[in-house]
Amino acid sequence: MTSGRGGPAHPPRQSRRKRGGSGEPPRETCLTPPSFAGYPFYDTLRAELEAAGYRTPTPIQARAIGPALEGKDLIGTAQTGTGKTAAFALPIIHRLHRKLELGALVLAPTRELAKQIVGVFNDLGSGVGIRVAQIVGGMPVEGDWKALSSWPNVVVATPGRLIDHLEQGSVGLSEIEMFVIDEADRMHDMGFIPQIRRIIAALPAERQTMMFTATMPPDVERIVRRNMRDPVKIQVGPASRPVEQTEQRLYYLEETEKTRLLQTLLRKETGRVLVFVKTKRGVDRLARRVHGRHLRVTRLHGDRLQTDRDESMAGFREGRYRVLIATDIAARGIDVADIEHVINYDFPHSPEDYIHRIGRTARLTAPGRATSFVTPHDRRHVAAVEHLIDSKLPLTPAPGTRAGSRHHGSRKSGSHTPGRGSPKGKAGPAAGGNGGTAEKAPRKRRRRRRRRR
Ligand code: AMP
Repeated sequence: MTSGRGGPAHPPRQSRRKRGGSGEPPRETCLTPPSFAGYPFYDTLRAELEAAGYRTPTPIQARAIGPALEGKDLIGTAQTGTGKTAAFALPIIHRLHRKLELGALVLAPTRELAKQIVGVFNDLGSGVGIRVAQIVGGMPVEGDWKALSSWPNVVVATPGRLIDHLEQGSVGLSEIEMFVIDEADRMHDMGFIPQIRRIIAALPAERQTMMFTATMPPDVERIVRRNMRDPVKIQVGPASRPVEQTEQRLYYLEETEKTRLLQTLLRKETGRVLVFVKTKRGVDRLARRVHGRHLRVTRLHGDRLQTDRDESMAGFREGRYRVLIATDIAARGIDVADIEHVINYDFPHSPEDYIHRIGRTARLTAPGRATSFVTPHDRRHVAAVEHLIDSKLPLTPAPGTRAGSRHHGSRKSGSHTPGRGSPKGKAGPAAGGNGGTAEKAPRKRRRRRRRRR
């Protein structure tokens, strides 16, 4: 691997393969194994896989684990909920299982994602002897010292807190063999690129780098060019397409009608619901409004104490809260099983965020629903999503709102049946254009009234 620091060139990857222990499986088997049996995993790791209920590799795993075991650099793009954490965790666990030194570093943009990655390492690796330290901000630093003094062989960190430790000399990265940047595009959005460069400068030049990203902003591409050598590129499914089994529905309404509609929708729900709101203050305000005796609601945003954030996530995961109201901090990488419904109370301003938000439901093969509230100000954002996914989204006047009552009677019911996105131009009222039904209904009524007069 080439290094930004002009360090020595990598030795041939052949030597790394040997470290894998059990030899290299045939190439074909490596790329599309029908089961985990196609990999040279140690028996203890196989037992952990079995215990976790992992029987068949997911597509990203099928394509990434082989090259990762060979020590190749790789760039992975996969839809959310596809099993990409295990795609990098399994090769790391296998290769580090007897190593005492810190051998792998995983960077994640948010504390919640870091915590989740630690969970996967613990689930699959603790029986194999993997010791993971979680180094994230917002928690007392004493906890980090304890974790770092317990001989971890994997560190999972958010960039800011890791840099604090590098500056204090409380962590050394000189033995890192495998370096993972998860959600690199999110790191970019959150302004972490300078920190990532600093961390890379502290790593040995000879290492394997794996990056997972949905898009490739120029800054991220520069990191790839300067710090990765001939990376294997793996894309599983079009990165910009929402998970297919998500039923998407867009409700047209006024800003002032949102809270009432949300309350109505939440009353009908029985499963877990994740609600996205634009601002931290908005999250607090909405949570106060919808919280009730029969509705257990929790909140997640960057201004809350880390202990409160952890309590919210754990409570939502374990079912103590049925509704989580959050900013986009929860849009990426968070894997909570059985989120039945994602509601965009505020429509996202970036089309990629739409994909990530709705990716919180319909994890792996489960079905899911995504409802978005759309005000007149959101039209161009809806159009941007439609452009990205190359599909029209079904826009419906929201029930119980002014747009909804105008709509009632002006069209046969069922003509707006919410459903999956349809290919562009084939069905569904235009979200951003003038042809939208929500636009036409009042005009028709005005015309009728004039005729009567
Ligand atoms: P991720 O995309 O890494 O957040 O993973 C999504 C979910 O899929 C997690 O709950 C994993 O435990 C689960 N998962 C990952 N790989 C597999 C697999 N091969 N078989 C079954 N479940 C898996």
